[in-house]
Amino acid sequence: MSNAESEKCACPDCVCTVHPDEALTRDGKRYCGTACADGHRDGSGCGHRGCNCHG
Ligand SMILES: [Zn+2]
Ligand SMILES: [Zn+2]
Ligand SMILES: [Zn+2]
Repeated sequence: MSNAESEKCACPDCVCTVHPDEALTRDGKRYCGTACADGHRDGSGCGHRGCNCHG
């Protein structure tokens, strides 16, 4: 079995962790969702509980 570990979302302000198999990959970085992957262009947060990232 591989010991895949969760890693932090590539968004600098995001405190979420993402599992490599479930992460949204953009430009070789892993994000917890499209909001982070798009750099919060529309100003919306990732929507995960306890996280206040807005880009
Ligand atoms: Zn977040
Ligand atoms: Zn994120
Ligand atoms: Zn974010």
